[in-house]
Amino acid sequence: MTNLANFRYVDLLGSAGFEPRNALYDVEFVVLDTEEKSIGSMKAHKLLLSFVSPVLKRQFFNDQGGKRCEEICERVEIRGFSFESFDAFAKYLYSGNYSLIEEMDNLGILLQLYLLFSKYQIRGICKIIREKVSEFDLVKEKFQEVFEVLVKYRDDFILEEVVDILWSRCVMVVQKEVKTEEDFQKFWEETFSGKEEDDAKEDLEVKDFLRKKILYNGCLNCTERKCKDGAQITQGREGMRIRATAQIVSLNGLVTAAAGWLGTVDEYKSPVQQKYCTQRGVNYNTQVSVRWDGYPQYLAFIATAANIVYNCNEKKK
Ligand SMILES: [Zn+2]
Repeated sequence: MTNLANFRYVDLLGSAGFEPRNALYDVEFVVLDTEEKSIGSMKAHKLLLSFVSPVLKRQFFNDQGGKRCEEICERVEIRGFSFESFDAFAKYLYSGNYSLIEEMDNLGILLQLYLLFSKYQIRGICKIIREKVSEFDLVKEKFQEVFEVLVKYRDDFILEEVVDILWSRCVMVVQKEVKTEEDFQKFWEETFSGKEEDDAKEDLEVKDFLRKKILYNGCLNCTERKCKDGAQITQGREGMRIRATAQIVSLNGLVTAAAGWLGTVDEYKSPVQQKYCTQRGVNYNTQVSVRWDGYPQYLAFIATAANIVYNCNEKKK
């Protein structure tokens, strides 16, 4: 696992014949003979050596002796993370102390850590968080926290695997008690009783999303109890996996997907209504935009969902 405490600094030293690439050297020691000719050199790092040698520290950073961090530090802005999450992230990097992760019992912070370790490509630790999440204590008192986190990250690509693990576990636990619509209503009221009602519309969406998941034990992709894999989409949500069954041409005539392309719904507008068109038969009056796998451009609002089917049974990499 990567962290500063177990990092092999010696591997970074660069001398003739061996110089790791991208080792971020900022000083080169050149050994001179009596005639001032170089008899060898070694590249190193000012900062690392300064921590262990007060002499080198003075030599390298003398100018900065009296300065405060505000004057010399580069400012890096972090967005989208709580301070608690970033604090734990940085402390782990410096210490390699697993207990920082193992003793963390806040699911929101754990998932943010997962995102941070992924974002900065710190290897090895995400697996530990995944294991931690698969053992997360799903007691009743934790339901609100867990569901809020799950709904918040339901469409997050990086967290997909973790979120799937949690969903399956939650649905199994809750289904033991929630079997009817009445059960669900009671469960919802109990679980989210203390929630502020400042965003009622969003709450309703969340409620409906949970209701389908728990009550109908629906497919995690199409959310239908009887999975509609392969059927033309008639309802959708962000993050739903879909497949093109034929070439899709946008309204202005551009080919925007080929048959067989896989993609993720980026935006899904208006409930689908079946409309009958004399020329084309039954059609679906939907606006859906899709992010195709491997293609950065968005398919902006296909006016009809024809040629797009649910893709629930794809094998995940
Ligand atoms: Zn399905």
